[in-house]
Amino acid sequence: MNHPPRDPNDPVLRSWVPSSASGDFPIQNLPYGLFREGGPAHPGVAIGDFVLDLRALAAAGLFAPSVANAPALFAEPSLNALAASGRATWRALRARLSELLAEGNRELLEAGIAERALVRRDAVEMLLPLAIGDYVDFYSSLEHATNLGKILRPGSEPLLPNWRHLPVGYHGRSGTVVVSGTPVVRPAGQRKSPDVAAPDFGPSRMLDFELEMGFVTGNGPGLGVPIAIEHASDFIFGAVLVNDWSARDIQAWEYQPLGPFLGKSFATSISPWIVSLEALEPYRVRGPAQEPEPLEYLREREPRSLDVALEVNLASDGMVRSGAPPQRISRGNMRSLYWSMAQQLAHLTSNGATIRAGDLCASGTISGSDPSSYGSMIELTWRGAQPLTLSDGSTRGFLEDGDRVTMRAFCENDARPRIGFGEVSGTVLAGGTG
Ligand code: CA
Repeated sequence: MNHPPRDPNDPVLRSWVPSSASGDFPIQNLPYGLFREGGPAHPGVAIGDFVLDLRALAAAGLFAPSVANAPALFAEPSLNALAASGRATWRALRARLSELLAEGNRELLEAGIAERALVRRDAVEMLLPLAIGDYVDFYSSLEHATNLGKILRPGSEPLLPNWRHLPVGYHGRSGTVVVSGTPVVRPAGQRKSPDVAAPDFGPSRMLDFELEMGFVTGNGPGLGVPIAIEHASDFIFGAVLVNDWSARDIQAWEYQPLGPFLGKSFATSISPWIVSLEALEPYRVRGPAQEPEPLEYLREREPRSLDVALEVNLASDGMVRSGAPPQRISRGNMRSLYWSMAQQLAHLTSNGATIRAGDLCASGTISGSDPSSYGSMIELTWRGAQPLTLSDGSTRGFLEDGDRVTMRAFCENDARPRIGFGEVSGTVLAGGTG
């Protein structure tokens, strides 16, 4: 029996998988991750409370003929091959998964693999979904850049002259990108207060998080070939939620004149699920006005932004131990970002630098105009001057050992089922030196 192909984003679609009607992972989402249930790691896709084993489906021939090379895509314990396969394959695979999981479809049952291929998510370990190639961190939020300018360079113009003309960024350290749940050891480094003559070395006293959205790329068009902004979507495999851990004291002393170095490179956490750009399409919205108008290669058609709700939750060690709920300390939205993902990618490749499947680009801290939407502690507490009070009565200027930071991101509106990224969390462990 043949059905006409259905739009995988159709809001009325339902899945036969139980528990998939609510939460972050309805059939309209289908994000990719890498999971392990005791044995070797397999690529999977989240649906409801389950993860679907893509290697098992490929072995059963369920992706042929629309995704003919599926067994090769899922042979390795990573999603790099899928990221490298290109947009036509990404779309074909998502359409086929949507078909297989849609209410009424019995192909997994008839193949005898439904029970084996559907694994409860609470029974699996999620791993770093792919080997990260290059990692670039941008600085795309006008509000964040303005706040940091006021805090780090008081008395001068907060935005530097280049900021409204290009998406400022730096090349980060891909080897320390870790998956959600990985503990973060407090880094040590050089710290220098303005009121003393010389730096000392020891554990950071100003450990912070940064709430960011990142995107994972496919392979680029090759060295020397910039990606035109209207084609940027062809090279974006999907989006992840990012916590760019930051040591403000180390950063403040080291960053001039070449930018962030050891204050950022000790850990960057990402969500285990990569949400495809296609799943995010229904949430496109107009971005903030750009003034002055960007140069031609950065000019993008609206709607260029994405309506993704963001939140940061913090729990002290005591709150975690006593089972107290984490406290929400920030709530914002990705739509406030000044520079879009496409603008970031067009700028990154405008000099002919190429990208490879598995590169990660993060947005930079996302802060809105309201202080309740600031995406870092240095902004929320104004560098510690206005500490936060947690529900256990303790106060925070920056993060303390034992603190657990959990970020969430999701898209929701009245017309569609909610889709989400799950969470990215990490607990701060005491450092060993100083
Ligand atoms: Ca950052």
